[in-house]
Amino acid sequence: MALLVNIGHNGWYRDVELAAELRKLSPDADIRSSDEPGNLSEITMLAVSGLAADLPARLPNLALVQKLGAGVETIVAHPALAPHVQVTRLKPKEPAREIAQYCLTYVLMGQRNVAAHAESQSRAAWESLEPKQNHKTRVGVLGMGHIGGETAALMRDLGFEVHGWSRSPKEMQGVTCHHGADSLEPMLGQCDYICAILPSTAETRGLINAQTLAAMKTGATLINAGRGDLVDEAALLADLDRGNLGHAVLDVLCTEPLPESDPLWAHPKVTITPHVSGWHLGDALEDVTENFRRLSAGEDLLHAVDRQRGY
Ligand code: NDP
Repeated sequence: MALLVNIGHNGWYRDVELAAELRKLSPDADIRSSDEPGNLSEITMLAVSGLAADLPARLPNLALVQKLGAGVETIVAHPALAPHVQVTRLKPKEPAREIAQYCLTYVLMGQRNVAAHAESQSRAAWESLEPKQNHKTRVGVLGMGHIGGETAALMRDLGFEVHGWSRSPKEMQGVTCHHGADSLEPMLGQCDYICAILPSTAETRGLINAQTLAAMKTGATLINAGRGDLVDEAALLADLDRGNLGHAVLDVLCTEPLPESDPLWAHPKVTITPHVSGWHLGDALEDVTENFRRLSAGEDLLHAVDRQRGY
């Protein structure tokens, strides 16, 4: 039984470095990296960020794919991954906090009129704009899971009026919780900022479209830090151009990297960041070695993904 690290994602951690980190946590375990995978029939667990197209077929005894992050849409739907192979993810605190703070950054920029004051400065114009008050501002959080819950709590603790939306009913102190498709549009219509931190599933893809955008409050800001395919980008541009939504902050896009020719780059009401809202894994690596131990011992795994549900 061996764990193979094959991250499949350039510009982040490297396979050899991550395998070395995992060996430090579990010195007796057989942990390999993609440069020296050894006998492939011994591999029972893969640790990946992106799962290469041909990899599952080369691993006859693969039993678990561990995602080194949260979004598993390409893994659960991987055409070569046999149905019996389990999928797990990580639920690290650190990137959840980072994403919550990413959302807060853009909310506070709106509250304090940062863009408008910068524009005034460019004209040497002393133009005062009243800051918006948190207790008079509604923040909606789409997806009230590990990251969305952190975001809602951060906003609540700063005095915003927070509304959360999820698939199943939730309760959270100081947050008005909504669930299910029917409650989405009425909730969107009340919010000054909408922070979307949803997984990419059959139900969420294209959820922010011409109809749901039209339901949003005029001048509201949409912040998407979940997955790009939540948003119909053509409908978003049309909505911004007709003067409904005030601003869109997109950390995730339908195509990444966003092509140079894409009109989103230059749109005055769009802010693009290159999928950086959550970055550091923090202490989550311990869960990778723990899952390898549990898999080898036949025990229940940490943070198992429902492959049918898609998250
Ligand atoms: P969780 O699985 O903990 O939470 C997902 C939330 O989305 C849950 O509240 C769930 O509802 C809700 N949800 C799912 N489907 C629907 C639906 N059809 N209608 C309404 N609500 C729905 O995931 P995380 O919070 O950990 O992560 C969310 C996503 O963020 C990840 O899937 C990933 O794609 C993205 N991400 C982005 C990063 C970045 O750098 N930009 C980094 C990390 C993650 P319920 O509670 O009822 O199940």
